[in-house]
Amino acid sequence: AKNGGRGAFRFYSSDLKDEAEERRLIEEDLRQALAADQLELHYQPVVRSKDHVVVGFEALMRWEHPERGRVGPDVFIPIAEESSLISQLGEWALRRACEDALNWPETVRVAVNVSAVQFATPGFVNIVTNTLASSGIDPGRLELELTESVFMGDSESTDETFRMLKALGVRLALDDFGTGYSSLSYLRSAPFDKIKVDKSFVDTCTQKDHNSVKIIAAIIGLSDALGMDTTVEGVEAFDQLEIVCAKGARYIQGWIYSKALPAAEVLEKIGSKDFV
Ligand code: C2E
Ligand code: CA
Ligand code: CA
Ligand code: CA
Repeated sequence: AKNGGRGAFRFYSSDLKDEAEERRLIEEDLRQALAADQLELHYQPVVRSKDHVVVGFEALMRWEHPERGRVGPDVFIPIAEESSLISQLGEWALRRACEDALNWPETVRVAVNVSAVQFATPGFVNIVTNTLASSGIDPGRLELELTESVFMGDSESTDETFRMLKALGVRLALDDFGTGYSSLSYLRSAPFDKIKVDKSFVDTCTQKDHNSVKIIAAIIGLSDALGMDTTVEGVEAFDQLEIVCAKGARYIQGWIYSKALPAAEVLEKIGSKDFV
């Protein structure tokens, strides 16, 4: 078994097993990993650009497969989304993230990714409600990251889910903004607290005469006008940081500050300003 690095999963006997069989095996192993508590959450800092203070962390799932090595969430999350497994994974992540965040200062938020499949599951709001209650975390410290794909579902129940989540007091972030089948119409009514500018815009923002910089600036302007926060994701290099900060980016998440860290290393990062 071989793992070709982050996200790149190599099929080790593609001549014998077709991709569907491979996915079935991964799903089975993932189910077992969840039951055996072999999944982990790592936490990537979200940093306020003006003073480099860590204001929160995004929880990102990690899976070290006993034979295949590390399998990336960009591989296993889509597989989990084909069954109810995604809701179990999501419930686990939500609970673990809230428990971990209780060890941090009260000003530090935790962001948890929610799959559109999980979002559309009937019991979803109840699970959030119960997790808030059992962990005792301040709901305002929990941010749920949703992608544009939640709007592909039934619009009445989507609206209702948004309403109930806001009533709980949790924050909502629109992830990967600008990469899906974007429509601005849902920003009109959906109660987001934050927009996350996708890494793909940052990747190309240092190229001369490239539109990415203008798009980043426009997204930040839109977000400001709507009274939302903006986090720019995937900032790796100093010249990218300079450009996005010049365009008004107040929150940054990217390898220039830190990759996602094991839970045990999170407390060291908080308050340390020696990133850049
Ligand atoms: P995402 O939610 O857009 O998460 C950001 C991804 O960008 C993470 O990849 C993060 O490690 C990576 N990243 C952050 N900064 C940089 C940077 O400066 N450079 C580069 N090259 N990458 C950077 P990761 O952890 O592999 O996660 C991939 C995707 O898997 C996530 O994208 C999210 O869609 C999904 N995912 C991860 N954990 C969960 C989870 O608990 N639940 C759900 N539903 N999805 C998850
Ligand atoms: Ca995310
Ligand atoms: Ca993202
Ligand atoms: Ca993404």
